Amino acid sequence: MPQATISLHNKEFAPYLSEDQLAAAVRAVAEQINRDYAGQKPLLLAVLNGSFMFASDLMKELTIDCEISFIRVASYQGTSSTGEVKEILGLQEAVEGRHLVVLEDIVDTGHTMKALLEQLQAKQPASVEVATLLIKPECLQHQLNIKYQGLAIPNDFVVGYGLDYDGLGRNYRDLYRAV
Ligand code: 5GP
Repeated sequence: MPQATISLHNKEFAPYLSEDQLAAAVRAVAEQINRDYAGQKPLLLAVLNGSFMFASDLMKELTIDCEISFIRVASYQGTSSTGEVKEILGLQEAVEGRHLVVLEDIVDTGHTMKALLEQLQAKQPASVEVATLLIKPECLQHQLNIKYQGLAIPNDFVVGYGLDYDGLGRNYRDLYRAV
């Protein structure tokens, strides 16, 4: 476990989960995917920016045939009745009939994942599952079936291993939480 707190912008973050703990969680998720998708050639959809490190490390642990593509979820204000709308950007592949695994860094309220899953389902894939490195069960506001969960964490704001605080902190190998 790294000993030092880090400072990003005006905030302090304390060491929380080590690189080794994260790697073990990634391996556990990979083992499940290797087992569940043997012979199925899934298409992994990594949600940028936060999931790039998780996606990279996870993919190195996969021994099945698989493909990966990178997407973004853009938020914009819809009409007053719909509130915030989330749109998928960057999905080039045809997903109809494919087995999809969405790779996310963290699921908090679940708003993002709910919107993403609805839009992906509408494209008629053979199946859609979610693999998230981190989940905050206390914060979840939707009934979501998140099949692959690396680590459940409390309602803290975390950075590192791809996750940022206002653009900074993605480069750290360990996970830190706001103090
Ligand atoms: P949700 O829609 O589930 O509330 O939020 C999902 C998104 O919020 C994540 O993809 C991530 O971008 C951001 N997020 C939620 N919690 C955290 C956190 O603790 N740290 C960071 N860096 N981002 C978070």
